Amino acid sequence: MAERIDGRAVARSLDETTKSEVEAMVAGGMTRPGLTVILVGDDPASDVYVSHKVTACARVGIRSTEHRLPAETSEDELLGLIARLNASEHVHGILCQVPLPGHIDARKVLEAIDPAKDVDGFHPVNVGRLSTGTGGIWPCTPFGCIKLLQTVQPDLTGMDALVIGRSNIVGKPVAMMLTAQGCTVTLAHSKTRDLPGKARQADIIVAATGIPEMVKGDWVKPGAIVIDVGINRQPGENGKDRLVGDVAFAEVQHARAVTPVPGGVGPMTIAVLLANTVQAARAWQK
Ligand code: NAD
Repeated sequence: MAERIDGRAVARSLDETTKSEVEAMVAGGMTRPGLTVILVGDDPASDVYVSHKVTACARVGIRSTEHRLPAETSEDELLGLIARLNASEHVHGILCQVPLPGHIDARKVLEAIDPAKDVDGFHPVNVGRLSTGTGGIWPCTPFGCIKLLQTVQPDLTGMDALVIGRSNIVGKPVAMMLTAQGCTVTLAHSKTRDLPGKARQADIIVAATGIPEMVKGDWVKPGAIVIDVGINRQPGENGKDRLVGDVAFAEVQHARAVTPVPGGVGPMTIAVLLANTVQAARAWQK
């Protein structure tokens, strides 16, 4: 049986570290780290995500503020709010929940956030820093994948990694992080030839395509480590939806370790967001 990498436990342990760091900062006279979350419109899924982030902040002692703006908020109003938050000494992290209403240019908004407060790690400056190995704030879900991998294999040097999916929010940053860790990385996508053949060569597979259970058992070599980023809803037996990943979990039990869905990569995203906020607050007060 493959080791089941417990993302909930790893996220809890990261939260404990973050909480201790917050306490040490406050005890040392620094300002308590603060995260501001902006939500424009009334998308129900975004509403739930924002509530989860705010609750998580309270858990580790980060001060959180919410700006819930009506759907008809203009782009200029939103940019004005971001400018004020950029200038505030109490705000160390700014997160603007996507999707934004159609009349707002999401790219413009993202690029207006001070890179030093961009705790999502999506600003081009942070993407550039990641790709050039010059620090920056790393995006939450990809960094969560690396942290999970390192619970099984702390030193990734020299390993052959296959990342399936080349999105800006998951696949590409994961590939850059693995490169930074000394892996030899193949970044596969929908046009890749002989994907099963490439997968069979890999010591590490990170699947991020959004295609339910596309990575089959015979794609995975014995002893490989498999990280499943996919979150796909499928009709379950009792009329309720069930979540499945991009990996056929039951078929890959000859792997060395695999993340389940749910309970694998998913819980890491918010834990890394909190850790990024503390990192940003520390850098701001240096
Ligand atoms: P995306 O749709 O932006 O990108 C999908 C990628 O998969 C593309 O690069 C595409 O080229 C590639 N792809 C599509 N079909 C393929 C095929 N047949 N073979 C190889 N590659 C193929 O998706 P995304 O935003 O990167 O998200 C991917 C998955 O990860 C989704 O299931 C999403 O829900 C999940 N996700 C989870 C978290 C989390 O755990 N917190 C965060 C972000 C995304």
